[in-house]
Amino acid sequence: MDPKKSIKEKSVTCLECGKSMKLITSKHLAAHGLTKAEYLTKFGLKKGTSLLAKGLSRARKEKMKSMELWKRRGTKPAGEEDAAAPKKKAAKAKRA
Ligand SMILES: [Zn+2]
Repeated sequence: MDPKKSIKEKSVTCLECGKSMKLITSKHLAAHGLTKAEYLTKFGLKKGTSLLAKGLSRARKEKMKSMELWKRRGTKPAGEEDAAAPKKKAAKAKRA
C-alpha cells in the first residue's frame, strides 16, 4: 500500500498491521515498537504528518475557523463553501 494513501477521508490505515481506524495513536504505535516519528520515517511519510483521518482533521480546522469568524464578527458564520478561497497569511493569530 502507498503510505500516502493510508490516510483517507474517514480512516487511517496502520501500515504495520493494516488496521483501519480514525486515528493512529502513539499508544497503538508503541504496540508495534514504534514512535510516531519512527513510523513516519519508516514509511516515508513527511515529518509532522498527522495520523488522523483527513475528514476529521479538516472538520477540526473548519470548526476552529468558523469559531474565529464568529468571534470577530459577532455573528453566525455563513455557510460558505468556497474551497478555492485564498489562504490567509494572517492565520498565525496572536493569543493575547
Ligand atoms: Zn497497527
